[in-house]
Amino acid sequence: MRPVKKIQPAYLHSLTATSAEEQTAHIHHALIESMGNYCSYCEMPLSDYHVEHLRYLAAWPQILSLSDWDDLLLICNDCRSHIRVPELNKESADAMLWPDRDITFSLQNSPFLYELRKVNYVVEADGEDISSEPMELVFVVANKNAGEESYEKAVNTIRHFQLNMQLEYYHPDTNELRVPFEEDQQRSDNRMFKRTRAWKEAEEALLRLKAMDAVEEDTSEEKATMRQMLIKQIAMTAWYSGNWSVWMTVFQKLSGDLELIKSVLASSEHPFTGLNNEANVVFGK
Ligand SMILES: [Zn+2]
Repeated sequence: MRPVKKIQPAYLHSLTATSAEEQTAHIHHALIESMGNYCSYCEMPLSDYHVEHLRYLAAWPQILSLSDWDDLLLICNDCRSHIRVPELNKESADAMLWPDRDITFSLQNSPFLYELRKVNYVVEADGEDISSEPMELVFVVANKNAGEESYEKAVNTIRHFQLNMQLEYYHPDTNELRVPFEEDQQRSDNRMFKRTRAWKEAEEALLRLKAMDAVEEDTSEEKATMRQMLIKQIAMTAWYSGNWSVWMTVFQKLSGDLELIKSVLASSEHPFTGLNNEANVVFGK
C-alpha cells in the first residue's frame, strides 16, 4: 500500500463553485492531482469516476465538502465492493493502517509485504468443483517482523478491504482459492490478477535491463543512452500499470539497486504523484 502525502492544492480554496456538485468535482480532481490516479488501497489505476472514499464510511459520499478533506481517499470499485465492515468508528479506524497517515510500505520492514504464491484455483458451484488449476497470484500479507502493533493493524486492513479476494475463498490448510462460479465469470474483483500482472511486468522489465547490462564488452555511449531509454520506458510501464508496491518489491528482490529503483519508481517524468517519502522512510538512505 503506497504511502501518500495528501496535500490540498492551494487553488482549491479560491475556486468558486456554483453548486454542491461542482464543488464535489473540484475536490475530486484535487484528490487525483494530489495523490495520483490510483486506488489508495489496492493501488490499481482508477478508471471510474466515483472514486472518493470517506475513511469512516463504505458508502459513496454523493456530495463532498472541503471539511471532509482529511478523511478523503481514492478507492476503486473492486475495493469499494469488498469492504467487509460497512462503517468504521474512530476506534476501528485507528486499528488499521492508512496510506495517508502511516508508512504503509517501505524497503525496510514494511508492514505490508507482497508475495507471489502458488495456489490451487478452484471454481465451484453447488458444492461441486467445476475446475481446478495451479495458479500464481500475488498476495498482500502482514509482516510479522514489523512489530506487533503494525502487524495487527496490517491484518485488520487486509481483512477490511479483503485485499486478497473475499476472505472465505482462501483455505490455507489446503492452499486453495475456492471461487464460486458466478464470481469467476463476473470478475468483480480484479485486484489479485492485476497485481500479479504488474509483478510479471516488473520481472520482465528487469530481465530486459539485465540482458542489456550482461553485454560487458560494450561500454559505448550508445549503450549508456539505450540503457537510459530503457529505464524511462520501464518507468512509464510501471506508471501505467500502477501497483507501485509490487514494482518496489520485485525490484528490491531481483535487483536491490537503490538508484535503479529510484530512477524507475521515483522518476520525475512519470511520477507516482503523492508518494510520501519523508525522511527517506520509503527508500531508505
Ligand atoms: Zn482498490
